[in-house]
Amino acid sequence: MKDASLPSAPTFEFEASESNVRSYCRQMPAVFCRAVNARVWDESGIEYIDFLSACGSLNYGHNNPVLKARVIDYLACDGVLNGLDLHTVAKRDFLREFREIILAPRDMTYRVQFTGPTGTNAVEAALKLARKITGRRSIVAFTNAFHGMSLGSLSVSARRQSRHSAGVSLEHVVRLPFDGYLGAGTAELDRYEAMVNDPSGGLEPPAAFIVETVQGEGGLNVARQEWLAQLAALTKRLGALLIVDDVQAGCGRTGDFFSFEGAGISPDLICLAKSIGGLGLPMALLLIKPEHDQWSPGEHNGTFRGNNLAFVAAAAALRFWRDPDFIRALFLSATRIRSWIGELTAELGASQVQPRGRGLMSGIAFADHTVGLRVAAEAFRSRLLIETSGPNSEVVKLMPPLTIEHDVLEDGLCRLRAAIDFVMDREHLRFPARKVA
Ligand code: PMP
Repeated sequence: MKDASLPSAPTFEFEASESNVRSYCRQMPAVFCRAVNARVWDESGIEYIDFLSACGSLNYGHNNPVLKARVIDYLACDGVLNGLDLHTVAKRDFLREFREIILAPRDMTYRVQFTGPTGTNAVEAALKLARKITGRRSIVAFTNAFHGMSLGSLSVSARRQSRHSAGVSLEHVVRLPFDGYLGAGTAELDRYEAMVNDPSGGLEPPAAFIVETVQGEGGLNVARQEWLAQLAALTKRLGALLIVDDVQAGCGRTGDFFSFEGAGISPDLICLAKSIGGLGLPMALLLIKPEHDQWSPGEHNGTFRGNNLAFVAAAAALRFWRDPDFIRALFLSATRIRSWIGELTAELGASQVQPRGRGLMSGIAFADHTVGLRVAAEAFRSRLLIETSGPNSEVVKLMPPLTIEHDVLEDGLCRLRAAIDFVMDREHLRFPARKVA
């Protein structure tokens, strides 16, 4: 007989046992069990469309069959799983594919550091290395930046709530406005340079500048190419290092493999994580210009930096970048999302909604800051997984897998549109012009 005192709600175990720190599951309280590309099923068999891609760590979709097959083969053959930084065949294959497919065609000669397998650890390594190389302390970081949750990464991140969680003072960081922040542009970079060069300006020369070219958590703000070029030139003039945090915007999110391609810049250090592991397996890299590879052996290490299963999936994922069908599909999906957002903006009016982001890292900023979270909640009721970003969660963020099928993308866009219409109608926020038709 069923004991009435026993919990029956499917989420009981999480609520009873899991830390209060959990967050995504509060907005999307289903219990998921299966996933294929951009579709996810919960344990009662309900199907959802995924515009979240585990925050950009599933760029090649859930259980991509090519990557999955490689990983299953590797397991079946008893391949080494954790190798610290020992030489393994899986790591050698990854390094070769990375050099041949990604670096060489771009005339890049970076050395590859395998950091602990999180974005924040790659950022920590970058900050430490820049300080070691320059012998300087301060790092320049930008408004709305997000770089991770460990102390060094928090110090360069901007969000007050996350910074406060550190519980200690976060020091040696100078904050500058990101491109477009309250109308800021290159003049702010010029003023900063003048202050550093002025013996009475009160600023020491920095060790590094750290920047996201598209701010993933900060509201999908895009740095213009000319601003990035000016930033790179300024970095050089000050004898500092340029760190591009491509943890979220890299691995094809913005269209190219790296987010800064096209800006004509050559960062000294590049942080990669999230989708570099291909199948959602933890892996992170710091790419280091050869002249900056000044680590001594073991100076930055970590037990799980030898996640060989991730290397296997990662090497297979890189081969997609040689596949014209993959590149064309990615381009078509990005174009479709851009035009969909354009139509929405035209229809609802620029005073209500603004386009944000680039490529498959695009979004919609709502002028009424309460709308974004309600749209995401309504989308979840329509079985669409989507999140918000920005300082007030005002940006609804469209991040489907790069491999999403055309019809699934259209279905997801329909559900999102219905959620937006529902929220804006119900709250009487809809732009009057829409009521006329
Ligand atoms: N940098 C950026 C730009 C990120 O978006 C994130 C994660 N959202 C991180 C660093 C931190 O990565 P992780 O959560 O893997 O530590």
